[in-house]
Order: sequence, then C-alpha cells, then structure tokens
Amino acid sequence: MEFQPRVFQMFGGLYPRAHQPVEPKGKGYIQVLLKALKERNVPIRTNVRVTEIIRETPVSGDVRGVRCETKEGVRWIRARQGVVLAAGGFSANKYLRELHDPRVKNLGTDNLPNQTAGDVMMAAVRVGAYLVGMDFIQSTPGAPAGKKMKIILNTKVAESIYVDKRGSRIVDEGARRDQIRDAVLATPERYAYTVVDNETYESYNSAVHSSVEEGIRINEAWTAPTIRELAQKMGVDPEGLEKTIDRYNNVLVKNQKDPDFGKAPRNLTKRIEKGPFWACYTGMTVHHTMGGINCNTKAQVLDWQGNVVPRLYAAGEITGGIHGTNRVGGNAFLDCMVYGQIAGINAGKERRA
Ligand SMILES: Cc1cc2nc3c(=O)[nH]c(=O)nc-3n(C[C@H](O)[C@H](O)[C@H](O)COP(=O)(O)OP(=O)(O)OC[C@H]3O[C@@H](n4cnc5c(N)ncnc54)[C@H](O)[C@@H]3O)c2cc1C
Repeated sequence: MEFQPRVFQMFGGLYPRAHQPVEPKGKGYIQVLLKALKERNVPIRTNVRVTEIIRETPVSGDVRGVRCETKEGVRWIRARQGVVLAAGGFSANKYLRELHDPRVKNLGTDNLPNQTAGDVMMAAVRVGAYLVGMDFIQSTPGAPAGKKMKIILNTKVAESIYVDKRGSRIVDEGARRDQIRDAVLATPERYAYTVVDNETYESYNSAVHSSVEEGIRINEAWTAPTIRELAQKMGVDPEGLEKTIDRYNNVLVKNQKDPDFGKAPRNLTKRIEKGPFWACYTGMTVHHTMGGINCNTKAQVLDWQGNVVPRLYAAGEITGGIHGTNRVGGNAFLDCMVYGQIAGINAGKERRA
C-alpha cells in the first residue's frame, strides 16, 4: 500500500498526522488485499446476501455458520472455524439511522446505496450480540438536499475555509466532525460552501479534479479568476466573501490567531490568494455510523452481559464502541484494518469443527 510522504491535517483529523494514499478512492487498499487473497486462493463470492447467523440455539452455544440468499436460492454455509462479520455500517439504512438520530432526517448519504446496510448487524442481535453507541452518527460534507454531487475540497484543513451564503466563515475548519456538522446545519440554508485557491486545487488528485469538473458542468462547483467573480457564480454575497478572505489572509494568517473560531495556529499557515479560485457546495451527508456490535479486544462479539458469543467475530464499521461519539478523520483504519487483522487471526485459531 503506497502513501504520499507529505503529512497533513485532514478534515476532522484534529492533528497533522494524515498521509494520503497514492491511489484515490480506496483503490490502493483493495489492490493490496485482492493480491493477498489471490495468492492464498481465497474465493470471493458476490451476490450472496447473509440473512441469518446460525448458532446452536438462538442465544447459546457456538456459532456454526450463516444462511444466505443467492441467485440460485437459499444457501447455508457451515463455518469450519469462526465467522467474521464485516458487513459495514448502516448510513444507507434510513430507518435505522433516523431511529437513532432524528437530526439526520432528510440528509443524503455518501455511502453506496446499499439495500443490505444493517442486515448483518441485526442478524447478530438475533443470536445474542449487543449493540453500543447506535446514536453516534457522523455526517460530513457532501451534496446538500436536492443537489447531486459530493465534491470534496475541504480535506486539507489548513488550506480551505467554509463560508455561508453571506460569505461569512462559520467554524474552525480543523474542528471535530460533529462540530463542523452542527455549524453547517445551523446555517439558515443547512448547507455551506468550501473555498480554496489554485495552489490547493492543484494539490488534489485526478478523482477530485474530475468531480469538480463535473460539478462545474451542473452548477454545483465553480471557478473564477477573482473572489468577487467566484462569489457571483456561487450565488454568495460578493462583498461578504471578499471581506472574509481578506480578513482570513491579512488578519488571521498574518497574526497566526483566529479570534472568530479558534483555528489552531498550525492550521493558519496558508493564505487563499492564488487564483483562479475554486468552490463547491458543502452540505451534510450521513457518512459513518460509530455504533454497532460490541466486541472485546480479541474482536470477539459480546452479548448483553459481556459474555463472548463463541466463534463469532466482527471488524470494521459493523462494530461499535471503537470511536466513541465522533470518529476522527482517517481512523476507520482502526476498526477495519487493525481489528480486521485481529478478527481474522483469532477466527483462524478456533478449533476445526
Ligand atoms: C466517501 C467515503 C470516504 C471515506 N474516506 C475515509 C478516509 O479517508 N479514511 C478513513 O479512515 N475512512 C474513510 N471512510 C470510512 C471507511 O471507508 C469505512 O468505515 C470502511 O470502508 C468500512 O469498511 P468495512 O469493511 O467495515 O465495510 P464496507 O467497506 O462497507 O464493506 C461491507 C461489505 O459488506 C457487504 N454487505 C453488507 N450487507 C451484507 C449482507 N447482508 N450480506 C453480504 N454482504 C453484505 C457490503 O455490500 C460491502 O461490500 C470513508 C467512507 C466513505 C463513504
């Protein structure tokens, strides 16, 4: 897995400690993992929907396997060792997410549309698993209601600002994701905009550039040689935006101090000054669900009394309690990669049935 050497503070990352993968959009991880699977002759079965987990009795004894639906009908898969649940979170399950946090009602999601989101988590409940933190639901910048595209120009927090329709900044761009969500949803429009200069725009990869180009085509992203012209295209107050950028560059960055929102000096290092300038909508979309199946540090699934559900493991976004109320940007690595490996190793140590 190749990472770019530069360290930066990513959106919601709280400190400069992020490396961007060389390959965009998760491709790098998938290539490495696919190669490992191929080398070990691990089959991948697609179009197989897990609907139930099989345990000796509904809430006691070993987990024995899963019930699945396939194109050919119902199939039962017996596990020779452990079963590892890695079916992701429930951001795309409107009912479940709104049940636990009504504030996300009517927001879109940046997760893939997933008819099965939450299915496996609930199947685990039916064999005794206990859920934690279900109302900790993260929303991050994406398309506002009624708009199409998730365009991301806010990843590098030291190089971008969020403004509202009046052209005013609304929050410390380096704040926690829940604070940024609350600031955006508190604007009268319930959406904001991200503004960057050309230097920052050029530092993004081709996937970001393609989404901005498509955004410009459908009037959901904008570029212009001056801040005034940019604001006019965005439908934002031009004087407001000019004032904000001027204050940001010549007071905040110059003095290394943000009396408005307390942005840390380490993130006040870059003026937004080299045109052409670029902007996109920054609405809120449901991004990540911190809650899920309660597990111990061996990735074993626990019931409501803290007892292990024998031979059942979980890793990734399907688990709960790893991140607390707010997942720090970049940290899905913990539940996915770190606990994925722990779950795999421990499931592989189970005696063979
Ligand atoms: C746009 C976006 C950008 C992100 N960027 C970052 C980032 O920069 N850094 C970071 O750390 N995290 C990031 N995240 C979060 C991170 O990608 C996720 O938390 C992570 O991918 C979850 O991995 P997972 O393996 O647990 O689940 P997933 O990747 O969601 O995989 C779950 C799989 O299970 C399948 N499945 C679901 N139900 C069933 C069923 N019933 N039967 C069979 N299969 C089923 C799904 O189809 C899916 O293939 C991002 C998320 C999004 C949406």
